[in-house]
Amino acid sequence: MRIAADRERCASAGMCALTAPGVFDQDDEDGRVLVLNAEPEAGDAEEAADAVGLCPSGALTVTEP
Ligand code: SF4
Repeated sequence: MRIAADRERCASAGMCALTAPGVFDQDDEDGRVLVLNAEPEAGDAEEAADAVGLCPSGALTVTEP
């Protein structure tokens, strides 16, 4: 899978970094999402998929299955 994040839509809710800490972090300055690993595999990919579904702002998308 490949993950994309739209930082303009991100509401800094932090669900992604809590749900998939190996894939997402939050910017220290504005709290917006940072993608640490855009092509996660195995367990990280499962957590990333959960995070995409939980993001309240729709800022995260899977661009490849
Ligand atoms: S869960 Fe969505 S809104 Fe919250 S920090 Fe992550 S990308 Fe941003």
